Amino acid sequence: MTQKEITYHLKDIQHYYGNTKVLDIADLKIKKGSITGLIGPNGSGKSTLLKLLAFAQKPTRGNIFYKGRIELPFSPTVRSKVTLLTQKPYLLKRTVFENIAYGLKIRKDKKHLKERVKKALLTVGLDDQKFAVRKWHELSGGEAQRVSMAARLILKPEVLLLDEPIASVDTESAGLIRKASLKARDNWGATLVIASHDLQWLYSISDRQLSIFKGNIFSTGLENIITGPFLKSGIKSDGKTLVKKLDDGQIITLKAPGKKTCTAVVIRKKNIAISLEKQLDNGLLNQLSGHIVSMLLEEKKEIIMATISIHNLAFILRLTSDQISRINLYPGKKVILKFHPNDVEWI
Ligand code: ADP
Repeated sequence: MTQKEITYHLKDIQHYYGNTKVLDIADLKIKKGSITGLIGPNGSGKSTLLKLLAFAQKPTRGNIFYKGRIELPFSPTVRSKVTLLTQKPYLLKRTVFENIAYGLKIRKDKKHLKERVKKALLTVGLDDQKFAVRKWHELSGGEAQRVSMAARLILKPEVLLLDEPIASVDTESAGLIRKASLKARDNWGATLVIASHDLQWLYSISDRQLSIFKGNIFSTGLENIITGPFLKSGIKSDGKTLVKKLDDGQIITLKAPGKKTCTAVVIRKKNIAISLEKQLDNGLLNQLSGHIVSMLLEEKKEIIMATISIHNLAFILRLTSDQISRINLYPGKKVILKFHPNDVEWI
């Protein structure tokens, strides 16, 4: 990647709230025109990272390079290029038209204002005639989110940061927000970073996924993370394993971490096998029963991303079409996931 192709370069970023470290990112680059999906449980640092990327907050340590230059928070030049859409849309107490036209008016860019607002509304699937005159409080959650998105899109930002954009919207709005995001990338090369709990939606839009857990980023794509509590295993001869008990009675055995402070474990996709039957005489091998929740074709890659539910845990695997046809996998099918307790990385 040349400098020109990199929108963000984060170097040795640490962020603290009081004495608590909530982000620790040694090196992260985000390419221009890319759509990055950010996934992680509540409290893992997604919103904090988005605020840093929006230059709305200064990292406690480290630098954020924006297009090769160190940028300081609240710098007006960069803040007009980077825009953050929060989960709860912020609308002015005015009409939809006024909300969308506001940014352009501030910029004194009033040429063809009506036409442009109409187009922006259309981009997010809202009819101009019906919605332009509506007041801010006459909208559903999904509509308000889309108006808020249109108000940003009309300014053609270089970067669009979306924090849980579909958390409280209907399916139709989720689809329209996806479309509008892709348009921003395709039409003017916007760079997008999107945090979402909805794996399937996120996967359908992003070309790269980052897992974030306790402020650490796993840039190898979506990884399977199991969080505690973990208990000492009952096997007398072996103090070196821990177990996680699921409410349905299944037990996951894990090689204990070297240090005590680890609170979660990563199981890489490549270390997990999928089959239809349990293997007898398995030693310590984990064999977990669950079912396939969804299967999604990765564009251009001929790989299918499958989400598998093991009681209340969701696992993600990348499967080839060969694997799928060999054991005839489809959503709803019962499967067994297998991985060895040693193939775990504590974090
Ligand atoms: P996420 O978006 O993944 O839910 P956040 O970035 O909101 O995570 O939060 C990361 C951690 O920082 C959490 O433990 C949260 O409680 C804490 N946190 C977030 N904002 C603040 C704040 N303004 N002051 C103190 N702690 C905060």
